[in-house]
Amino acid sequence: MRVVIIGAGVAGCVIARGLSRMPGLEIHCLERVEPGDHAESGTGLNIGPNAVQALRATDPELAGLIDDASLEWKNWRVSLTDGTVLFDLPLKDVSPSNGWRLRWSELYRVLRESAEGLIRYGCTVEEMGKTADGSGKTFVRWSDKDGAHELTDIDLLIAVDGRFSQTRNIFAGGVNSRQIGVAIFRTLIPDTSDGLITDYEQWFNGPNRLLAYRVPPGHIYIAGTFPIPLDGETPDELKTAEALRAAYTPRSAPPSDQAKWMIDTICSPDSELHWARIQESEARHCEPDANVLYLGDSSNGMVPTLGQGATQAIEGACAALSAIENRMAAGDTDVRSWLAAIEASRSERIRFVMEFSLEASDTLLAGSDPVEGTLKKRSPAFLEKLKRLYNDIGTIGSARPEEERAAG
Ligand SMILES: Cc1cc2nc3c(=O)[nH]c(=O)nc-3n(C[C@H](O)[C@H](O)[C@H](O)COP(=O)(O)OP(=O)(O)OC[C@H]3O[C@@H](n4cnc5c(N)ncnc54)[C@H](O)[C@@H]3O)c2cc1C
Repeated sequence: MRVVIIGAGVAGCVIARGLSRMPGLEIHCLERVEPGDHAESGTGLNIGPNAVQALRATDPELAGLIDDASLEWKNWRVSLTDGTVLFDLPLKDVSPSNGWRLRWSELYRVLRESAEGLIRYGCTVEEMGKTADGSGKTFVRWSDKDGAHELTDIDLLIAVDGRFSQTRNIFAGGVNSRQIGVAIFRTLIPDTSDGLITDYEQWFNGPNRLLAYRVPPGHIYIAGTFPIPLDGETPDELKTAEALRAAYTPRSAPPSDQAKWMIDTICSPDSELHWARIQESEARHCEPDANVLYLGDSSNGMVPTLGQGATQAIEGACAALSAIENRMAAGDTDVRSWLAAIEASRSERIRFVMEFSLEASDTLLAGSDPVEGTLKKRSPAFLEKLKRLYNDIGTIGSARPEEERAAG
């Protein structure tokens, strides 16, 4: 059976590698960028315990490679920028597993190396669509440095081409995105904090929030948010050093040492801040009349508040691998039934994760009270949801022993 994967990002690499180890599948993975091109290298990622558990159950070797490239995310603390601590949660209180924190470029490097030989880089997809015979099969035409190429009779097309998915544009007419009225900037810098910043922390001044943690080797990732008008771009005057200093400096007390170091760092003339706006998009899992599966951001672009974007890309890829492997083990080679199984296992889960991520963004919105909002996060109801988020990954994992899967 022929499987074509569009995109070799987080979900693409996990699914390409996993499917390549299943018997009877011919895998092609087409990636737009050249090898070694990590467009988002100025970013750190914290990946939730749910992805760690899902990947350990599905591909323990790959999970081990990410262990080696990351630091453990063990704790989540929320304070005010004057140093008042509001929330301090060891992740072990809500999950048997910790998370990961690492550079985005390192995650891509590890994942792409682990799918070596499966990925064709530098591909520009020119056209894709359903074959005319009504079978649900698809075709893809693309070009690369060697010229034009075509794959037809594709049994399963997997769209893992990110938030602005070309595949979803073609098959579903695009992705409806919704802004939530929050600007976000990020920067990744060498660690000169002298131990001030280590594990995952957030600091509020009103609804303006800083977030930071250390990632290997020796860098600190800082992200900042503040409210902006719902439908507009981020005004330039809010991006200046003076505006940022005012946004995060507490009025009635001096900033804590951590907050001072971060404010000085982001306001330094040398700082390189990358700007975006927080948004989410409507979930879609597969096409009703073509054998197209969406995973990761092409399926469910979500607000980043709970660090679930890459996390769900991994969890979703693992869930899809398990569903396909289980269907195949039961002798079922009907791709429509695979898609139905994946959609059934993912739709409620994704709905919950997206809604919970949005709910947890309350403290970022204009007029919000971070103290009241963060104290709510200490309530049993919120902690129960966090347990559900980090642990309810569904039926993930292979019935086949690791040695047998590695042999293909
Ligand atoms: C600033 C920022 C911070 C974030 N922080 C976190 C975090 O802390 N934790 C977390 O879990 N998530 C985080 N995310 C979200 C996370 O990075 C994404 O959700 C995740 O990368 C999605 O994975 P994916 O596999 O769906 O897509 P991607 O990783 O984006 O991969 C898509 C791949 O498809 C390729 N591609 C795109 N179009 C085409 C095409 N037409 N043809 C071929 N290839 C194509 C791209 O080059 C890329 O390699 C953050 C995102 C941003 C922007």
